[in-house]
Amino acid sequence: MTASDLEAALAYLIVKVLAGNKNKILAIYEYLVLDKSIREVKEKYGFSKSQIKGWSYRLMRYRGAKKLLAKTINDLLEIEPIITKDNICKICKAQISDPERHVLKHKFIVNRHIQKILEKLK
Ligand SMILES: [Zn+2]
Repeated sequence: MTASDLEAALAYLIVKVLAGNKNKILAIYEYLVLDKSIREVKEKYGFSKSQIKGWSYRLMRYRGAKKLLAKTINDLLEIEPIITKDNICKICKAQISDPERHVLKHKFIVNRHIQKILEKLK
């Protein structure tokens, strides 16, 4: 896994967590890493098959992403979301409609978490 693949894969995952979508990460993890059936994951989390496959394939574009997810799942789940359940951003207090896109406006937070996890992986 190249350094840029590693960072891009982490950014993809961290954005979802910061946006308050830990269940998406868990669904991807159980499908890809724990090798559960798509049906089981779908029923557990209430996402559609195409959503789960779509997120998983997007992540798998980065070489080594599956191993990375296996190693970092606990650190990812410890990250505190910056978007509340009512879609308010804790950083700028704005009411938002697209949490994952909004998180990218606070790129420094995404980068800080990437660096923290990279440190742990060393
Ligand atoms: Zn904000």
